Amino acid sequence: METQEVFADKVPYHSIIFSASLVYKQRLKKSKAATLFKLLTIDCRTTPHRSFRMLKNATLLSRRILLSPIAGQDVRQMTTAVELARQRRSLQGRVAVITASTDGIGFAMAQRLAADGAHVVISSRNQKNVDAALEKLKNEGLSASGMVCHAGVKEDRHRLIESTAAEFGGFDILISNAAVNPDSGRLLKCTEQVWDKIFDVNVKASFFLAKEAIPHMEKRGKGSIIFISSIGGYLPNFAVDFTGAYALSKTALLGVTKLLSMELGTRGIRVNSICPGLIETRFGDVITNDKRTPTLMYHNCPMRRNGKPEEMAGLAAFLASDDASYITGSNIVAAGGMQSNF
Ligand code: NAP
Repeated sequence: METQEVFADKVPYHSIIFSASLVYKQRLKKSKAATLFKLLTIDCRTTPHRSFRMLKNATLLSRRILLSPIAGQDVRQMTTAVELARQRRSLQGRVAVITASTDGIGFAMAQRLAADGAHVVISSRNQKNVDAALEKLKNEGLSASGMVCHAGVKEDRHRLIESTAAEFGGFDILISNAAVNPDSGRLLKCTEQVWDKIFDVNVKASFFLAKEAIPHMEKRGKGSIIFISSIGGYLPNFAVDFTGAYALSKTALLGVTKLLSMELGTRGIRVNSICPGLIETRFGDVITNDKRTPTLMYHNCPMRRNGKPEEMAGLAAFLASDDASYITGSNIVAAGGMQSNF
């Protein structure tokens, strides 16, 4: 462990190796990407010298890949941003609760907030996923704990908030990220049961989670609540064949952000939302893998590509930090330039 920590302190090797593996992944060199990625899970305690050598070589190789012309500009910029964040540690001493954070956008946000110095409390429905995500974070030398929380279950939400508050004497950041879309399709196909499930998890659970968090943030003197909405919230008519009632639930979240920020404006708690565009995650697969999507993106997205979970994480870290101290009630779009007006 000692070797890993010393090395991590001098070189933020995880982000460098991780980004290089992303470059391979983008270039469809899956086995090379997997080899590099596997190195991130090395346990330095068992064979410290060998592990140290392997990580050092992988870091040097990764640096070369990132600096080579095969790496996209976006990935290089992202790596630099994470390296700088690690040095600045703008969230040092903060505690962040993040729902649905064992994979996808939530996990990338947990990783980034922790890299910026926060302790992150991650959660999702499945204990096995929580354990696996915690292992990854801890292997990167990040400060994290976690528990099961199905965002749609009131008792789970209550336990997540109360146990975190009891352990840390309150907390500072809440990212309400969980959402469901059990039956993606057109609005008129939506049954009452599907509608209720979507609005239960995406809107009601998000609001009541925030409501429970507020007294604990007030104890710490200030707080930042971040809802994860969607570009679909602004443009419910964009992916009309896929998003139906789900998009409407995300539109409702834009309103919750505005109204709650008004009520909390003088109480030290800022409320904002992030509206991602099309992001490559398991949840986004339904749209990103559909053959109609490239045409849709070609006509609507100036950057003409999908986003990566890591590209949402920097915005969350910024909104959570004091750099955003005068920003509240904002629904911020990160969608490759897609239009964001009603
Ligand atoms: P994802 O990659 O599929 O991640 C899902 C994560 O959520 C996993 O950790 C999963 O773990 C957990 N989860 C799922 N249902 C849950 C529930 N009911 N309660 C608690 N945890 C739950 O999803 P994502 O794409 O990152 O989406 C995250 C957020 O971004 C959502 O709010 C989504 O609406 C929004 N968004 C996504 C896109 C996109 O294109 N991907 C675009 C706009 C907005 P378990 O299976 O263990 O529960």
